Parts: sequence; structure tokens; C-alpha cells
Amino acid sequence: MSGAASVELRDIHVSFGTLEVLRGVDLRVGKGETTCVIGPSGSGKSTLLRVVNRLQEPDSGDILLDGESVVATDADQLRRRVGMVFQHFNLFPHRTVLDNITLPLRSVKRLDKAEAEQVARDRLAEVGLADKAPYRPAALSGGQQQRVAIARALAMDPEVMLFDEATSALDPELVKGVLELMAGLAERGLTLLVVTHEMGFARQVADHVAFMDHGRIVELGEPAQVFEEPESPRLQRFLSQVL
Ligand code: ADP
Ligand code: MG
Repeated sequence: MSGAASVELRDIHVSFGTLEVLRGVDLRVGKGETTCVIGPSGSGKSTLLRVVNRLQEPDSGDILLDGESVVATDADQLRRRVGMVFQHFNLFPHRTVLDNITLPLRSVKRLDKAEAEQVARDRLAEVGLADKAPYRPAALSGGQQQRVAIARALAMDPEVMLFDEATSALDPELVKGVLELMAGLAERGLTLLVVTHEMGFARQVADHVAFMDHGRIVELGEPAQVFEEPESPRLQRFLSQVL
């Protein structure tokens, strides 16, 4: 791991037509820290993550990595520093597990075949899937596919990792393995911004929890504070529905 970076959003605004989806979001995740974002469906959580790695350009506001603005840098360049893991894995279905990891290493990082394979095999071993290298994703369980997606993101040696409901599409018995892997990354000091419905994970792993509603961060604090002493009625209502 090449080292983590802090990530900061300043007064981010995003609208789709007349729909204001992010209405001035400020958020800072310190180097090596984990922030979990919780909140109802449609509150803007995915859009927020997409802004960080520039899958979504903000209408206004600033994004900083390690204190430096990255809104003007090339999006591909930025995505080498900020890895993202999606709810539906987004693996290439017709490629082997190994190819899924080596292809971006070759095209983006310009590694040669042998180097890329070495990195890919190391990362697969780390997520406990060394023996799955020659298989297509469909031959793996959802939990294993998600671990491949995480290995693929880690192979790029990111400074920040974004997780958008990484366990929401998994059968319940497969959730734990993926959450444990994510907790391990947090422990190793990677900077994580995690959108999740897993309140137990947020409670145990996050340094800070941000509650989003209607395009704003309504409440932000340490997990104990957010879960046990929620201040806003909206958060109180949300927690009463999910806990
Ligand atoms: P969440 O992840 O919290 O469920 P999203 O960020 O996905 O919320 O979406 C927030 C709102 O923005 C929703 O009302 C959604 O329908 C809308 N939205 C998201 N992406 C787009 C888009 N590309 N075009 C139009 N509306 C969008
Ligand atoms: Mg979402």
C-alpha cells in the first residue's frame, strides 16, 4: 500500500435538471480514517461517492486529496488514486478473475503481463481467492465476486477507497466475509468512505458516521454519538426504522 490520503469535499452541489441532489456537502475523511455514510434511499449517498472519483462532475464545490484540489485534474488520473467498489461488483463477465485484475493494471498502470499477473495474484491471495484466478466471475459466489472487485481496486494501490453499498446485493450469509475484509482495510490504515446499511459495521469500524438526508449531511459524529444520542428528529426516525 503506497500510503493513504485524506479526502475532503467542500460545498459540493449537484443537480439533475431541477432536482437538487447534493445541496452543499462538506465532508472530510482524515488520512487512514473510515467514515460511514448512512441515510435513506435517494438522499444522495451514491452521488456523493461518484463525485469523489469524478464519475459525477459537481456543479460547484471543491474536492481535495491530501489538501490539494483535484477538481481540475484528469479524471483517469484521479481514479488511480481513488478506488471504488460498487453494489453490483461491475466485473467483466467474459474475462477470468485474473484478467479482471490484470487488465486495468496493464491499461492504466502500464504494467507488463508478468508484473500485472504478479500483483493480481498477490491481491487475490490477500482476499483469500488465490485459487479462483482462472475462473469466470459467474463461477464464484456473490461474496467472492465482491472480494475480487475489492482485490481489483486494491491492485491499483489507491490512497482512498469508496464503497457504495458493497454488501447490499449479497445473500445474508456472504455479507460477513466482505465486511471483515473491509474492516481489515480500515485497520491497515487505508482511508475509507463507505456508504452502507450495515449499522453494526458503521458502529464498530467507522471513526465517524455521516447521516445524509435530502442532499445534505444532517448529522456527523463519532458512532457512539450518532447511534446513541442522535440529535435531529430525522436521524432519530431513520434509526428507529433500521435498527
Ligand atoms: P442514494 O444513493 O442515497 O439512494 P442517489 O445519489 O443515488 O441516492 O440519488 C439521489 C437522487 O438523485 C435520487 O432522487 C435519484 O433518483 C437522483 N439521481 C441520481 N442520479 C441521477 C441521474 N444521473 N440523473 C437524474 N437523477 C439522478
Ligand atoms: Mg445509492
